[in-house]
Amino acid sequence: MTTSTPTTGTTGRPTAPPRLSPRKARDLETLHAAITVATDPVPCQSSDHPLAWISDDPDEAAAAARACRSCSVLEACGSYQRTHREPAGVWGGKTPSQRQRPKRTREVNPR
Ligand code: SF4
Repeated sequence: MTTSTPTTGTTGRPTAPPRLSPRKARDLETLHAAITVATDPVPCQSSDHPLAWISDDPDEAAAAARACRSCSVLEACGSYQRTHREPAGVWGGKTPSQRQRPKRTREVNPR
């Protein structure tokens, strides 16, 4: 779980961080609280390579997503992402490209 916050605008001057909706702020706070009280290590917080969770390198992101499988807040993290559609970073064990893949549907026999 990571978020990207632009620090400079097109003028190069610092910009204010984007405002979160009250619901998103509450849900993010709830997820953060779950991470904080987790008794098992949360991979994105305990990794030696935390930038993998926001990497543009597909292999690094995929490795981060695999590491999420042992996370005790995997479901909550994925639920947060599905609700708020975070576009970047690994959330709930999925990379951005994995989240964009359409769900497989049962093929109908064309006979
Ligand atoms: S599921 Fe992955 S991204 Fe989400 S909190 Fe756990 S380790 Fe971090």
